[in-house]
Amino acid sequence: MNIYISGTPEISMDSINEVVDFLSSINGPINFIPLSPVSKKWTTFRKSEKEKNEDSYIILNDLKQIATVLRIQFTQIEDENLVIVLTSITLNFIEFNSPKKWFSHYNDKDIYIRTYNWSQFTNNRPYLAICHQVLENTLQILNGNIGGKFDYYHNTPEGGCINAFCVNEFEIEYKINSGKICSACQFNLKQNNVQSGYIIQIKNLLSKIAAEANSLDTDLFENRDIKIEINKRGDIYIDGIFLAMDEKPRAFYLFFICSNNNAFTFPDLKSKKDIIIRIYNHIKKNSLERVIYNFFGFDIKSTITIDKSMGKVENVEIVNLEPEILDTEYHRRMRNIRNLIKTDLSTISTLVSTNLFEVKKAGRQGMAPKYLFSYPKELIQIDNSFLQLINRTS
Ligand SMILES: [Zn+2]
Repeated sequence: MNIYISGTPEISMDSINEVVDFLSSINGPINFIPLSPVSKKWTTFRKSEKEKNEDSYIILNDLKQIATVLRIQFTQIEDENLVIVLTSITLNFIEFNSPKKWFSHYNDKDIYIRTYNWSQFTNNRPYLAICHQVLENTLQILNGNIGGKFDYYHNTPEGGCINAFCVNEFEIEYKINSGKICSACQFNLKQNNVQSGYIIQIKNLLSKIAAEANSLDTDLFENRDIKIEINKRGDIYIDGIFLAMDEKPRAFYLFFICSNNNAFTFPDLKSKKDIIIRIYNHIKKNSLERVIYNFFGFDIKSTITIDKSMGKVENVEIVNLEPEILDTEYHRRMRNIRNLIKTDLSTISTLVSTNLFEVKKAGRQGMAPKYLFSYPKELIQIDNSFLQLINRTS
């Protein structure tokens, strides 16, 4: 199942990507796909006489219209896919047929989610609350519940079950920190034949949200001189602990650590692919030669010719397989690599958060996001022979 995430015009592409990045950090049958926010011309925010003094607000019907426009505009969205509209515009309650404070709402397969006022409830990570709302609504749609009716909610907290009815942000915070689907709800989902893969993926994401929302304050506890060491084999040690990582993400991670404080767009990285391939070939054990080439859209074609004097001669040619590839595909590949790095970093048990050590997005060059690793250089120790591998010009 694909879930497309967009927003009203004031929502930035970066905040949509932040939500998609987090939700894509666990693989499963649900794919989360970012869409650009709708442009102003697609929306008509209506005002009734009564609310004319309000700056701007939106009514449920506007959100419904935006979701419909998205479904028409992006033809790849199949009918059974979900469309999510994020909005920071105040919702007018005229059409809102419930006493519930507005956090999110769904109608058939369209979900609308409010983005404001979440920082203090999420350890300053508002995207966690937004992701939580995405999962809550998705689970209810999968379970066959009808949007806008509230009879399927618990009126008891059930230890913070995702389906507990919440009247304010504090109650939502309790659910975010619990990351729970109670046994009654699990039973219900199974009874309604919701695919196990969906439920497992959603539950794992809920646990991850709870862990991030509950993590220790990095300012208090990560404020120590943690060393990053790279030996001549390209093994990475953080805080003295070996970082286990597959060769592909490790080749990228090593490249970023050695390029500390330099930001790269995807085309920049592509132009440096020979260095990344060199690192990869240096650390690889049994992996495929062409892994990094494929990542950048190339393949190695080898042809064998018979030469009278030399016998078999192998000609190796690098072919560009994807001259027309879309930027979104580049972003997807980088997101995947960054998520693999993040997941492996989380196995270093002495770190409060993986945050300081991740490859992050850092601004844009034109439309292309830049990726950056940034850490105090006096705390990074790289073996000289390994560094030469990177600095070599050919
Ligand atoms: Zn429940």
